[in-house]
Parts: sequence; C-alpha cells; structure tokens
Amino acid sequence: MSQNILVLNSGSSSIKFSLFDMLKGIERASGLAERLGGNDAELTIKSDANKLTINLEKSDYKSTLLVIIEQLKALGLLTTLPIAVGHRVVHGGEAFSNSVIVDQHVINSIKACTPLAPLHNPANVAGIEALQALYPEIPQVVVFDTAFHQTLKPEAFLYGVPYELYTNNGVRRYGFHGTSHHYVAEEAVKRLQLPSNHGIITAHLGNGCSACAVKDGKSVDTTMGMTPLEGLVMGTRSGDVDPGLHEFLSVQKGWDIAKITSVLNKESGLLGLSGVSNDMRTLLDAADQGNEQAKLAVDVFCFRLARQIGGLAVSLSTFDALVFTGGIGENSRPIRQQVIDNLSLFGFKLDAQLNQKNGDEIGCISMDQSPKVLVINTQEEWMIAKKSHALVTAH
Ligand code: AMP
Repeated sequence: MSQNILVLNSGSSSIKFSLFDMLKGIERASGLAERLGGNDAELTIKSDANKLTINLEKSDYKSTLLVIIEQLKALGLLTTLPIAVGHRVVHGGEAFSNSVIVDQHVINSIKACTPLAPLHNPANVAGIEALQALYPEIPQVVVFDTAFHQTLKPEAFLYGVPYELYTNNGVRRYGFHGTSHHYVAEEAVKRLQLPSNHGIITAHLGNGCSACAVKDGKSVDTTMGMTPLEGLVMGTRSGDVDPGLHEFLSVQKGWDIAKITSVLNKESGLLGLSGVSNDMRTLLDAADQGNEQAKLAVDVFCFRLARQIGGLAVSLSTFDALVFTGGIGENSRPIRQQVIDNLSLFGFKLDAQLNQKNGDEIGCISMDQSPKVLVINTQEEWMIAKKSHALVTAH
C-alpha cells in the first residue's frame, strides 16, 4: 500500500502543496495555487516528469483542493488517497507544543488563536475544513510554526509589561519558523555528530527572518516574538524598533495604528532602508554597482543579525555551531561572510573557499580552528510530512 502524504500551506489567497512518498523518502510533486478568489486564479504542479499550469474556474478552497488531488491522480502520482494530509499552521499559541491529529477540539483551538495571527490562522483553518468536507476519511495533522518554541522559559518569553496582559490577553513571545529551526538544528546535530548536550544557533534568512538558540535539542530563545514583526531586519519588516516609535509617528506624521503597522510590516526592512528592493539578490547587485543606499541596507541587516546572535548565545552553555538556512542563508555568500566577520569575538572564521559553494552541496563552511558554521537547506515540508507520518502510523 502506498504511503503518500500531502503537505498543505493554505494562505489567504494561495495554497502551496507538496506530495511525499514516505516509503521512498522522496518528494513526488509540488505546486502552488495562487490568486485564489480572483478571476485569474491558477494552479501550477511540478513533478520530475511534468510542469503543468491550469486555470482555475472555481477557486474557493474546496474546489481548488479537489482539482489538486484530481490532477495528482491524473498524472499518476496518486493511485490511492494520501494516508494523511499535514497542514502548516502559523499560530498554536500556548495550546500546542507538538503536532496533533485534527479533531474538532483542535480546530476550535486554532480558531481561538486567531487574534494572535489574524491573517494566517483563518486561512489555515479554511484549508483544513475544506479538506475535511471533501475527504472526511483522510486523517489530517497540524504542524505549528510556534510549537518548537514552546520550550522557552518565562524569562525568555515574557515582555516587561504588566503580567495581567500575559495571563488575560496572551501577550508574550511565541516565536515562528519553528519547523525550519527544528529541522536544521536536528540536521546539524546529525552532521556534526554532536552529543545530546549541545548548543546551536540557527538563522533562517528568507523574506522573513528569525534566529533561534537551540540547547540540547530544544528552543530556548528566538528573535521573533508575539508576532513575526519582532527581531531581525527582514525583507519588508522592520524587526525590533523602539516601542516609543509608534507614538512619535502618530504625533509627527499623523499616522493611525493601521498605517504604522502597515509601514513596519510592508515598507520597512531591506526595502525601506534601501529604497531599492526587498530582494537580497537585487540589493547585492545594486551595492556592487555602487548604490550606497543598498549597501547600507545590507550592512544594517548583517550587523543586527550578528547582534541578535550575540544575544541568543547567552542562553547556551556551549556554542557548537551556527547554521544558515532560508533563501538568503542558503545562497548568499557575501551575507554569510559579513555576518561572520561581525562575529569575530566568538572566534568564528569562514573558509572563503568552502563559502563559495551554495545549497545542497554544502555543509560546513568554517575553518578548522573556528566554531562550526553550516549551511543547510531547510526542508519544512518534509519535516511536516515526517511529523504527520509519525502521528498517523502510531495510531
Ligand atoms: P525565501 O523567503 O526563503 O524564499 O528567501 C527569499 C530571499 O532569498 C530573497 O531575499 C532572495 O533575494 C534571497 N535569495 C535567493 N537566492 C539568492 C542568491 N542566490 N543570492 C542572494 N540572495 C538570494
């Protein structure tokens, strides 16, 4: 019997998916349905043999999921229904420190976390409910971006604000990108054959960026907070700012809270600093061609990342490895070099030759006498498939 698992990431206007064969441990297909709800919605499916694009006449979640499954069948990639569907869910609040099999209680708990992730959780639930309506016989599993960070201690997750805001309103640091940090930290332990008591810092640098301190396999601190806006400078998000900035902007610019939130989320970060782009490739090219503003944005990005890594190190007893992942971490050699140059206090030294490599081929990029620096391709979907498989086969 086949052991296929479908992994879904349902967004407000898109569904990303991957299909894994768990017996062979390979991805069989992946794809994206985008512009859902509009009249130009389309679905792209990629497999080893095919790349297919289909216009979606009806693009509500249910119709779209039905087309995805029917197309996977038509391409011969699914002969029977998947043994499980694993969903990426952004916010599990304090209710979930692990992946779980979906039941009504789980759905209600995800809905209860909606105030913490108003854009993401409703879309995630819509994907789960649509699949449930179509195929009630398929077990579904949810894997939370926040769950890996539920091991943070109160001193790491509390803000210095009135305690009742935590107990009554859930105001605390949750952290995100947990599946990615978990995966690359596990890989680092495997590749370096680290003992069970280890200390690793993982830097997930994509359009969204966060870093995480992992001690003995557990997240002990991370840079994102109650929302994904906290922490590092990102593509369009500011990362940390003085909380006094909000009042200042409202008085000086007359901006209301919605405008300030939008500027900090969508017009800041690399884009806001450079005025050029949120895309690191474009910025590095522009900096190479002498664009000073692009260079400044890159410098701020690297400095603030190094500064946060220094802060995260406080939670570790040993600093065995620093891991780069995400689009920038996996591909951008100058950024890795600049961040490591900023961390010389910790004894880090890159091997310039090894740092020339990118992506899959790469592992350790540091010199022998340096603490280890690794580049590991993140595999969030594979991690979700593995967790889903473990849960459904245990029952
Ligand atoms: P992600 O969100 O993980 O897909 O990462 C997106 C970010 O990775 C963007 O800022 C891209 O510019 C960056 N990126 C991808 N490939 C490269 C590359 N070869 N060099 C520099 N940045 C890259």
